[in-house]
Amino acid sequence: MGVDDLLQLTLADAAAALEAGRLSSLELTTAYLERIEKHDPALHAYLYVDREGALERAAAADTRYRESHQRGSKQPKTPLLGIPIAVKDVLCVAGMPCTCGSRILEGFIPPYHATSVARLWEAGAVILGKTNTDEFAMGSSTENSAYGATRNPWNIDRVPGGSSGGSAAAVAGRLALAALGTDTGGSVRQPAAFCGVTGIKPTYGRVSRYGLVAYGSSLDVVGALGRDVRDSALLFGAIAGNDPRDSTTAEAAVPEILLEDSPELAGVTVGVPDEYFIEGIQPEVEARVREALETMEQLGAAVERVRMPHTEYAVPVYYIIAPAEASANLARYDGVRYGPRVAAEEMWEVLRGTRGEKFGPEVKRRIMLGTYALSAGYFDAYYGQAQKVRTLIRQDFEQAFEQVDVIAAPVAPTTAFGFGEHTEDPLSMYLEDVFSLPANLAGVPGVTVPVGFDAAGLPVGMQLMGPPFGEASLLRVAHAYQTVTDWHRRSPPDPV
Ligand code: GLN
Repeated sequence: MGVDDLLQLTLADAAAALEAGRLSSLELTTAYLERIEKHDPALHAYLYVDREGALERAAAADTRYRESHQRGSKQPKTPLLGIPIAVKDVLCVAGMPCTCGSRILEGFIPPYHATSVARLWEAGAVILGKTNTDEFAMGSSTENSAYGATRNPWNIDRVPGGSSGGSAAAVAGRLALAALGTDTGGSVRQPAAFCGVTGIKPTYGRVSRYGLVAYGSSLDVVGALGRDVRDSALLFGAIAGNDPRDSTTAEAAVPEILLEDSPELAGVTVGVPDEYFIEGIQPEVEARVREALETMEQLGAAVERVRMPHTEYAVPVYYIIAPAEASANLARYDGVRYGPRVAAEEMWEVLRGTRGEKFGPEVKRRIMLGTYALSAGYFDAYYGQAQKVRTLIRQDFEQAFEQVDVIAAPVAPTTAFGFGEHTEDPLSMYLEDVFSLPANLAGVPGVTVPVGFDAAGLPVGMQLMGPPFGEASLLRVAHAYQTVTDWHRRSPPDPV
């Protein structure tokens, strides 16, 4: 197999080729490492690449394949054995630096794996390295990374989205076969949309947060980015499930995700909320999503309008709750326990010096916002009120799901924007999240599928949202769409 063909393989194809002995993990992993070396300087998707570790893991996977072939064992190995995967730099991988895109964690090397990473590891995956992110996952463009932004493989003058922009750019740019990301307010779905890949944000509590550096603990979830629904579902299936180390993970068993290749949507009702097609949305985004809905109708789905009247409050509610939780979670970075320390005579000076110097401006802004919202005298007016409205947003979903099976909407109001377009005005950046935040506030699963391009050649994504723990049927619907479309098969030209 030529290197170019090899890099076009999906995870599912690569797994089949490895299993059949037509491909070795060493060939596959080397192809990715070489491509990273060649193209990552232009994209900056990675903060850390573990070349040696990856090659070792690949060789070990090949040994396992060989042994099982010799024994003639028909025992199915996990589809991730020998597959090169990238991990967002907010998840702990033992022995690899974990910076969260922040100077305050520079040099921190966790001694343990996050549960999601441990599950990939046990499945035999090859971890290529750690991908770039907005500092502590706070942002929508990777411009808040202390180590420089990632570039969008479709146009290097555009952002890849965020905060899992490194993971999305790595998958789109063929610098990883698939990647883990995290989604607190859209950070898997929005970069997947901006980079033209498929991304799954699972139900809150479906995937363990153990070893995920906390941002907004009532919102954070680990998700998967891949070339298509099947690949993302394989990764999701490997990381999902109860974990005694995270008491918020659900007991519910993870159903097997069966994706048939029959493009059949008869009996499925798709809800389209008016509130997600508001003024200010880029017309091509709306047009592509509406075309995708027509395709789903042709497959037999019934498309219905639904009302989700509290959608407009998602931005203010999220930007109280997430910073409030962040202000508590980030209190532990004091220059004593992790990372670098700014030396001083007096303890408070160490704290002030370290936090003042090592946190970036967006993180400081959120810590201040959150601390204010939680302070005595303001708590009821801001945090308490936001929690009440969060309930109303969740009820919008509950009511909609009494009527429809999935909700379809744009992921973001625009395609990938330019660098610096929103950095001067944080509020305009927050408004970019208007369509992705509700799913987090309600805890429901969502998946981004590519549905075409705008006139500038930038990908447009549609998000499908389902009821809590309804990933299996949600992914079946998303997969049916991909069996009759090929937007997810397009890849950008090599960056120059
Ligand atoms: N863009 C949102 C924020 O800045 C969401 C980020 C995320 O999902 N991690 O908080």
